[in-house]
Amino acid sequence: MNITNFLVVIPTSIETNRLMSKISIDNQTGCWNWTGYIDAGGYGRIMYRNHQESAHRVFYAWKVKKLPRGKSKYIPQLDHLCNNRQCCNPEHLELVSLKENILRGNSPSAKHARQTHCKNGHLLPKEFNYFKPNRKGVRICKICAYEHERSPERKIAQRKARLIRENGPRRKELLKNHREQEKARRNKLKHLAKTP
Ligand SMILES: [Zn+2]
Ligand SMILES: [Zn+2]
Repeated sequence: MNITNFLVVIPTSIETNRLMSKISIDNQTGCWNWTGYIDAGGYGRIMYRNHQESAHRVFYAWKVKKLPRGKSKYIPQLDHLCNNRQCCNPEHLELVSLKENILRGNSPSAKHARQTHCKNGHLLPKEFNYFKPNRKGVRICKICAYEHERSPERKIAQRKARLIRENGPRRKELLKNHREQEKARRNKLKHLAKTP
């Protein structure tokens, strides 16, 4: 796919002064913090040649190279290497694919992707080993899954559930639900066992 729409920034001396007057350099981090308007997402905003722009994008387009506009999996996005959204230092910015950008962020899926060990300290598999019904891949710790399966708590819960099922008034319905649940659980474990 060809990208046809770019943000190009070649400022005049007046525009250069205006851009730099909104920057406060943090000597500790090297971040060029935007002191102008900040949007709800925490990014600096600026009017440049009658266009609302993200401040960090304007600086990158000015100091490094023109920037593709728009959002799709084909269009690389500008990522803050310093994780500071107000920062406009071109050296703290990098063009990456949208997927890479999401994985680098702080969303639960991003954190999960970076995680190397489960909450009990076992090494997690590098690849997804279980796919949810909505097709999102997740990694499950096989040691924890195995131990949970054999834990006394689970055994007690199973016994209790069996008693209710076999003697309760909603016997038929509960038995049916139980069979379906067990089938799903077995399939999940089968899937886990198959992957190395
Ligand atoms: Zn920075
Ligand atoms: Zn574990």
